[in-house]
Amino acid sequence: MTMFGLKSSPKQSGRGGALHIAGSDRVASIAAGETLLGAAVREDIPFPRMCNVGECGACKCRLTRGHVRLKKDISLHVSPEELSSGFILACQSVAESAEVEVEVLGAGDDDAGKQAPRKMDASITQMTMLTPDVCELELSLAVDIDYVAGQYAQLTVPGVMGLDEPRCYSFAEAPTGRSSKRRAIFHIRHVPGGAFTGWLFAADRTGDRLCLSGPHGGLCYREAERPLLCVAAGTGLAPIKAILEQGLAEGFTHDVTLVVGARTRRDLYAIDSILAIQERWHGSFAFVPVLSQESEDSAWRGRRGRVTDYLREREKSLADCAAYLCGPPAMIDSALEVLRHRIPPKHLHHDRFLDRGSIATAASAVA
Ligand SMILES: Cc1cc2nc3c(=O)[nH]c(=O)nc-3n(C[C@H](O)[C@H](O)[C@H](O)COP(=O)(O)OP(=O)(O)OC[C@H]3O[C@@H](n4cnc5c(N)ncnc54)[C@H](O)[C@@H]3O)c2cc1C
Repeated sequence: MTMFGLKSSPKQSGRGGALHIAGSDRVASIAAGETLLGAAVREDIPFPRMCNVGECGACKCRLTRGHVRLKKDISLHVSPEELSSGFILACQSVAESAEVEVEVLGAGDDDAGKQAPRKMDASITQMTMLTPDVCELELSLAVDIDYVAGQYAQLTVPGVMGLDEPRCYSFAEAPTGRSSKRRAIFHIRHVPGGAFTGWLFAADRTGDRLCLSGPHGGLCYREAERPLLCVAAGTGLAPIKAILEQGLAEGFTHDVTLVVGARTRRDLYAIDSILAIQERWHGSFAFVPVLSQESEDSAWRGRRGRVTDYLREREKSLADCAAYLCGPPAMIDSALEVLRHRIPPKHLHHDRFLDRGSIATAASAVA
């Protein structure tokens, strides 16, 4: 029987053994106490990952053989139902049996048709400013990519010091809407003090070469029957827009509430695209932009405050929804706090837009 433990037990060392990747012949030795992700990375086995401390959920996989102990509660990314079906985070799993096998998500036949992640060369074909600190980045890819709306890619800049660590960006258009399978579009916010976005926004990078790995991530539309609650803050709108475009293309008919948080009116973007989706949507479509820092004397007549204020006010009426949340970790965490009381975990889906600052904070909290 698979053994799961949700409480941390740092003194237990784990016994070490061998890690097998289902559907491939890759095997890694696992040192005593080492996590499954640690073993995979040491042996250069491709594995989606980012934070290594259980915050991002990128290394979610399915245990198909053996026993593991979890170093900490992973319920932020793995629902109780998923846990009982064997889903784990590789970065928080220590082998408790000599042989362990995991299925890497995105690589399995039964994984919603998702393509296994691969690395490819890319070049920047266009950069368009959408707001004072958000640009639309268009890439031309060396090979075709198939992704599902809601997934993300990891970008690195070969040959530029400090930019060899991957940065995650969600695909900002539905795969069905692309003119070519070799095109990828992202909405990228300039993070003050950020290494990659500092480089990107410092000059016109058209023609520069990047390396893209993907597609990654489990965020994708799943519910056929429930109304949709989509909550986005900042560039969290990118994957939500892609999911809604996909829904439109596939003729979804259920009702949608889209709540978009921004600081001021000039930070709201892609409004025309949202209004176009709203107009053509088959069910009802409520679009609620919420501004947190718009000046009192502006002509803005929409909602003010935080996205979570809106959710708190409406929480009862949102209880039958399936929720999709994307944006900064602080927004996601407070929105989940509200929605968790009303919406069952299996209908709560989210991508927390972590950066190296939030990962460092999380890592120091568990150290
Ligand atoms: C699944 C996913 C999808 C995402 N999708 C998008 C998207 O579509 N669009 C988007 O704009 N963003 C997205 N993000 C967030 C995006 O990946 C980050 O904002 C981006 O990596 C910032 O990169 P950077 O190199 O500019 O900043 P980083 O170098 O990562 O730095 C970010 C901040 O942390 C600080 N910092 C860096 N290192 C440390 C340290 N060791 N200790 C303390 N502070 C530190 C920096 O000063 C800076 O303020 C996504 C994130 C995830 C996880």
